[in-house]
Amino acid sequence: MTGSVNTPLDGVVNQNLLKMGSDLPLRVAVLGATGSVGQQALDVARQHRDRVQVIALASHRNCGLLFDAAKELKADYLAVGDATVQLDGLKPPAGVELAFGEAAVVALCLLPQVDMVLNALVGEAGLRASYATLSAGKRLALANKESLVVGGDLLMPLARPGAMLPVDSEHSAIFQCLTGEDGIKPARIWLTASGGPFRSRSRPELVGVSLADTLAHPNWKMGPKITVDSATMMNKGLEVIEAMHLFALPLEKIRVVVHPQSIIHSMVEFADGSCKAQLGPTDMRLPIQYAFSYPDRWSASVEPLDFCVLSGLSFEAPDPQAFGCLRLALDAARAGGTAPCVLNAANEVAVAAFLEGSVGFLDIERCVESVLASLGVERVTSLDQLENLDRQARVAAAEYLSKSGR
Ligand code: MG
Repeated sequence: MTGSVNTPLDGVVNQNLLKMGSDLPLRVAVLGATGSVGQQALDVARQHRDRVQVIALASHRNCGLLFDAAKELKADYLAVGDATVQLDGLKPPAGVELAFGEAAVVALCLLPQVDMVLNALVGEAGLRASYATLSAGKRLALANKESLVVGGDLLMPLARPGAMLPVDSEHSAIFQCLTGEDGIKPARIWLTASGGPFRSRSRPELVGVSLADTLAHPNWKMGPKITVDSATMMNKGLEVIEAMHLFALPLEKIRVVVHPQSIIHSMVEFADGSCKAQLGPTDMRLPIQYAFSYPDRWSASVEPLDFCVLSGLSFEAPDPQAFGCLRLALDAARAGGTAPCVLNAANEVAVAAFLEGSVGFLDIERCVESVLASLGVERVTSLDQLENLDRQARVAAAEYLSKSGR
């Protein structure tokens, strides 16, 4: 994780550069357009039709929703990541270019008509698209945190100033707190965590929790993978690694604090002890829109906070012993190199198995721990190296779960 020199902070210095041409609509490609973040991004585009022009859309499998969105928002290029998908009589809108397979999704990032790619793909599958976007000198609105967790060492050196816009609500908050600080480095950042549906449970109280309870997130409306990650607190661990890359900070300068109301989306502490926090409604459309509008701000049809009604903001320390995934992620962050790649791959496999009902909640962390212990840590050198290791870790995770499953 060392050597990450380009951060979104650099972009703040270059606001004038970004303002150039700001009268023109932003031309975007939305990857993961049928998922939760993708749909909310399309909602932002709908509300700002004069400012956001949707050029290209990609989904993993859902062609019906993809074609509807393309028709409504007049996208010209479509890609479906799963090359085996059957159209079953569905027809794309007339005149639209449609292609299949992972390479087709990545190709959308390279279209000359596209200024910004919103990467809302799920999991490591998003890494190639992030890499292609930054390599092509385009702006990347990053909702796919796994790209940075796995490949941050490769991605950050590619991000020219102002090119990497965080969409993860915590990282958007930190980015917003640092905007206007003229490159001043934070003394610490405080990543807030809702604590998820099992907040303040002890270890024994996590045994045998159900899928339905796991998916009942108290504050945020999100896709199933990240909702499970939220419940295990792996999500917060991944976000620590994401923040290390984005803001070029060592692990010891990043603190996780549980804040159950999810009103403060994260905080920055400066050398003089002064803290800046970003607060707002729990609505993912806001960080998505800020990535689109930066360095400007646009109006949003979101119910604003009413501080006279807010009952209180509370904070507590996280418990990495009860939530072993958080502990494992922090260990992987400390180890650096390829450890986060292995952590992430094992977690993706284990979460998929948990969502299918074939393993229990605590098997997720047991699986991640076992796979991390079985594969050594190397320095990150290439995308191919990471993808090979990702495959190995997935095989190891599947083997572990087949032995320990229900
Ligand atoms: Mg987040």
